[in-house]
Amino acid sequence: MIYLDYAATTPVPREVADTMYQVLTERFGNPSSQYRIGLEMKKQVEQWRKTVAEALDCPPERLYFTACGTEGDNWAITAAAWQNRRLGRHIVTTAVEHSAVIETCRWLDRQGYEVTYVKPDSRGTITAQQILEAVRPDTALVSVMLVNNELGAIYPISEIARGLAARNPQTLLHTDAVQGFLKVPCSAKALGADFITISGHKIGGPKGVGALYIGPRVKNPKPLLAGGGQEGGLRSGTEATAQIAGFAKAVELRQENLPDKLRHMAELKDYAVERLSAIPDLQIISGEGGAPHILSVSLVGWPSQNIVNDLSQQDIFISAGSACHQGRPSHVVAALGLPKRVAGGVIRLSFGPETTKDDIDGCAAALQTHHDTRMPML
Ligand code: PLP
Repeated sequence: MIYLDYAATTPVPREVADTMYQVLTERFGNPSSQYRIGLEMKKQVEQWRKTVAEALDCPPERLYFTACGTEGDNWAITAAAWQNRRLGRHIVTTAVEHSAVIETCRWLDRQGYEVTYVKPDSRGTITAQQILEAVRPDTALVSVMLVNNELGAIYPISEIARGLAARNPQTLLHTDAVQGFLKVPCSAKALGADFITISGHKIGGPKGVGALYIGPRVKNPKPLLAGGGQEGGLRSGTEATAQIAGFAKAVELRQENLPDKLRHMAELKDYAVERLSAIPDLQIISGEGGAPHILSVSLVGWPSQNIVNDLSQQDIFISAGSACHQGRPSHVVAALGLPKRVAGGVIRLSFGPETTKDDIDGCAAALQTHHDTRMPML
């Protein structure tokens, strides 16, 4: 098998699975229980929170575990709208956000908000100036992702934060850092956002766990779930201890020799650009200057879903855009304004620490064969 879809999800290392197994079978106490194994687990959850918070460079008491990145995005946006409900009903976001952000904004739109979707150029670039120009006195929230999941483009969050502080200090800033956490510099302090979403399964953790950083400018944040008062009373529900344990373990493992891992991914990406550029009709969409693990290319004229299906039959797994958009044209690719034949052929290759040059070679050979043996249809 050749797996080149690490932006969709990642394999869980054995140590992570073992840690989770132990929590599920032996250390299964409920952190809210008042006897020893409950109290021990409560302490342990705080330790795991500390591990994840340190990696995000934020105080642990400002980090809340969630069920996934999607939940973090939904919570951040609705909490920001709630806090600034008297400031105004305008939101600035981008046309290339993950659907967890776009759909929450659309929902608010239906509740009477006005949403501005800032468009990228044809390579996916969006500048801080573009975002700041869209901001108005009644802008309650700006939500811009740190790394685009389909293009790998990195957006200038700290510059946006500084611009907002100077012009509209009450406007809150959210960044979806699901693809940026432990891939590009991602310090809560340096980013300066009020909300930061991260997710476990993009960094070797299990699916079904994430976290949301909520900064000090968010006064009395709107609880996501009311109930037993877990997560500082903001997200009730018995803690998913095994998932949280796995998340923290994955963070620990990923941080070991992190610069080497990132260098490895960046080198693979350069190698992939070199190999794939040799295929006729292949166009690099975005890659340069972006996150080390995501490369977007187009086999101009060949429909991306056919490519994905063909490679899948050979046990090679790549994506035709965001996994969350399967079967539907991606709004991210649409926003680039590319000619139809280019847009229709966009595929994403994404890498992890385990990816090898042989994986790239195998994928490049399969793409070359697809090009040589299938008729272009676009
Ligand atoms: N945001 C981005 C940028 C993502 O890539 C993803 C996952 O694909 C999400 C949010 C959603 O995260 P989760 O799968 O944990 O809900």
